[in-house]
Amino acid sequence: MTLRSRLVTGLVLIAIILVGPLVIAIQSLYRLRDDVRAFRDKEFAASLLLGQLREGLNDLRRGELALLFARDTVSRNAMDRQVSSVAELGDSLSHFQLPDYAKDIGVSIRQIAEAAPEEYRFALAGDTTRADSMSLNVFVPALNHADSVVHRAERELRARTTQRVAGQAATIATTATVSGVALVLALLIAMTIAFLLTRSITRPVSDLEHGMRAVADGDLDYRLNIPADRSDELGQLAMSFEEMVRQLGELDKLKAEFVSVASHELKTPINVMIGYLQLLEEGIYGPLTREQREVHNTLIAQANTLSRLVKQLLDVSRFEAGGGRLEPRAIALDDLLGELERAFHVLALQREVHFTVQRKPGLPDQVFWDLDRINEVLGNLLSNAFKFTPHGGSVDLVVEPVDNGVHMQVRDTGAGIPPEQVPRIFDKFYQADNQKSARAAGSGLGLAIAKQIVEAHGGTITCESTLGVGTTFGITLPTRVTRRSSMQRAVPAHV
Ligand code: ADP
Repeated sequence: MTLRSRLVTGLVLIAIILVGPLVIAIQSLYRLRDDVRAFRDKEFAASLLLGQLREGLNDLRRGELALLFARDTVSRNAMDRQVSSVAELGDSLSHFQLPDYAKDIGVSIRQIAEAAPEEYRFALAGDTTRADSMSLNVFVPALNHADSVVHRAERELRARTTQRVAGQAATIATTATVSGVALVLALLIAMTIAFLLTRSITRPVSDLEHGMRAVADGDLDYRLNIPADRSDELGQLAMSFEEMVRQLGELDKLKAEFVSVASHELKTPINVMIGYLQLLEEGIYGPLTREQREVHNTLIAQANTLSRLVKQLLDVSRFEAGGGRLEPRAIALDDLLGELERAFHVLALQREVHFTVQRKPGLPDQVFWDLDRINEVLGNLLSNAFKFTPHGGSVDLVVEPVDNGVHMQVRDTGAGIPPEQVPRIFDKFYQADNQKSARAAGSGLGLAIAKQIVEAHGGTITCESTLGVGTTFGITLPTRVTRRSSMQRAVPAHV
């Protein structure tokens, strides 16, 4: 799924989920509206009808009294109309789910309607006694009965209405709770979707960012965590990243190979030059004058510097072209230190510098390192120490055990390095402003190579120096380095 469709799907899902509670609330509102309408059409109309019926019965009561007093046809006709009106209202009650009451009232009204013609007759004939007796025995009880039925119907209607209103109130409360819970759930789901959606984008982006930074720092071994089968834009970006890293690696290798070939080619003419200079020195081409000898000395010193530089260039480029490959093997640590002690003992005597190799207790007998490379590193550090230490000074190689490794220090009481330049001395071709104190010219490559070799062994190299007091280089190496081809390119490549 592409990034865009993923975003659209996610947002649509969130919208749908958030609309859910709204739909529930709207549905409940519609139900409420229908109930209110039904209430208005049925209960309200029924209560209105019962009110009219009560009024009608009262009118009938008054009409009958008027007939008994007035005893004329006007009163009779009026009462007759009231009887029919009450009978009609009584019939209508059956439409409002009050059938029992309608039947009861119907019975009373029928009694009234049946007794009414006789009562008219007695009243109009002036037979007050019989008319009064009809009224007392038939008319009034029937009216009272009808009245009491109306009251009961009203009570039932009121109870029914109260019940329905309570039911509605409960439904509204339930709806409010359901909508609230649905809203909270919807928010939680929407937040989860938003979180997953954001994470699925930010994770690979930050992975890519780390990768870019690692590559910018020279680490071409950085591997992205983005799955290879990811088909969206980020997957394509990851593929481009991998391709970029691959090409950079290839370019790096090509560059190192080129330098390697070039420096190799330079070696032959330099050796020829040095050879002829030596022949000149030996007087093969005749004796040299004093001036010629001075020029010859300068030439031979420069040629030697050039030769050393080319050798170191060849070293560093071969190491890089090989991807920093090491050939670790078991080394007797004591033998390695003994060799170094012997090799630099002569130099120490020549330079009148006090030299010691100090072995601290607890050192491992065997270490697994690339012997030639480590010799190169220690040789370089010791050469530098002797180079910058004046007569009467001291150079010490102190070796002590550390957790799963060995820590070695090369200390000297030499010229020291200006503090602001210490962080740069591991850069290729960098030389500090202390060359005046050096006994020989250098190339600025030795420490860069040393750092590469130490880091390829999985170790670290540090430098502490005080101008005019001395310098200490520290190397920590794991006891056992596994054969590997990955090279941490901690040194910026200027070659
Ligand atoms: P170089 O061939 O110049 O010695 P390196 O890479 O070995 O090259 O050293 C880089 C620079 O670091 C040297 O030129 C020097 O300025 C400084 N340096 C290295 N070791 C020492 C030391 N023991 N004392 C003082 N300066 C040192």
